[in-house]
Amino acid sequence: MRYENVMGTRRFDTVFDYSKNGCMIAVTCVCGHKAHLDPKEVSKVCIRKGLDLRIPAIRARLKCSACGNRDVQCGPAVQD
Ligand SMILES: [Zn+2]
Repeated sequence: MRYENVMGTRRFDTVFDYSKNGCMIAVTCVCGHKAHLDPKEVSKVCIRKGLDLRIPAIRARLKCSACGNRDVQCGPAVQD
């Protein structure tokens, strides 16, 4: 897994920006736990449930599966 340093050059505002760029959503917790979400799966779930597809809204709904913390960061990751 390669982490892209593209935050300054490309916008990753919604899950569609991730799928468009072929990126996974890398979720990092303050405890060090990392998870990768498939933007296509996330958008499918959001559309079905009528939820907001913007990253800040998705981030607010996420919870670390390791420690239960809600203070998680989202960023783009590209699969090698
Ligand atoms: Zn955690």
